[in-house]
Amino acid sequence: MKPPPFEYVAASSAADAVEALRRHGDDAKVLAGGQSLIPMLALRLARPAALVDINGCGDLEGMAESRGVLTVNALVRQRALERWARERAPLLAEALRWVAHPPIRNRGTVVGSVVHADPASELPALLLCLDGEVVARRRGGERVISAGQLYLAPLTTSLESDELATAVHFTLPPAGAGWGFAEVTRRHGDFALVGCAAVLALDGGGAVSHARLGFFGVGGTPVRSGPGEAALLGEKATAARLGEAAKAAAAALRPDGDLHATAEYRSSVAATLAERVLTAALERCGKTE
Ligand SMILES: Cc1cc2nc3c(=O)[nH]c(=O)nc-3n(C[C@H](O)[C@H](O)[C@H](O)COP(=O)(O)OP(=O)(O)OC[C@H]3O[C@@H](n4cnc5c(N)ncnc54)[C@H](O)[C@@H]3O)c2cc1C
Repeated sequence: MKPPPFEYVAASSAADAVEALRRHGDDAKVLAGGQSLIPMLALRLARPAALVDINGCGDLEGMAESRGVLTVNALVRQRALERWARERAPLLAEALRWVAHPPIRNRGTVVGSVVHADPASELPALLLCLDGEVVARRRGGERVISAGQLYLAPLTTSLESDELATAVHFTLPPAGAGWGFAEVTRRHGDFALVGCAAVLALDGGGAVSHARLGFFGVGGTPVRSGPGEAALLGEKATAARLGEAAKAAAAALRPDGDLHATAEYRSSVAATLAERVLTAALERCGKTE
């Protein structure tokens, strides 16, 4: 199908885009990489009166790391972050490898994926695990939304319709931390049936000093596991302890069943993946990659 008619606004700067969003209010959508929005228009799942194209906004290009925080601006493509992250943030690089296929990652933006808020997407769960934030700008001001406050429901965030997400921040794992990432899909490049990511760091005595465990594909939003992390913090990172934490994390999930997988299957896979990613994270602790 063809998209319904819309007004096309080519913004030349972030301020220009913000002004267009203010003018059109609830009737406008930001067009970034178009890898989710254009199919939704074609299927008539979205019918915005105006598209505000930010691809000409030079001030939304680029990414930079400062004091352990990586800022990724709104026009950075997923492939660009994947390349950058290979050396500096291998968890991000590994997760991005699972996002669709390279041609889609060449166009799709990191920020677009984060704010599109598909519950089966990799990057929103990583935003939770890496204590991330979204920088939201509207006419007259800017605010920072923490990952924990961002995700409300499938494809729904706390970003207002007149706000442009200008950047996301990821806090890179502490020195010596290990990471793990795994997901189950029907075919490579499909959205995950269930996925899981973990970051672990140990203190000098071998006890867990930093733990992050996140899931995607297990409900309406990505999930950071409070019970899983609580079962690890301050404890010796033994195989038995990791297994208990994985079980506690999976038991607290409330996944949905659909035609791809039952809720029971998702819970069972979540427990298995959690144990695998925690084990992988422990093995990487203290190693430089
Ligand atoms: C075949 C296929 C397979 C895919 N598989 C996966 C997968 O396995 N995992 C995965 O995570 N993704 C997958 N995707 C989606 C892909 O990663 C998209 O690129 C991403 O979800 C959206 O990024 P985008 O830049 O293309 O955003 P767009 O499609 O341009 O926009 C998506 C939504 O976000 C809003 N938006 C975008 N940028 C901003 C901004 N700066 N401020 C405010 N709102 C904004 C738009 O208005 C729109 O509502 C797949 C896509 C396709 C076509």
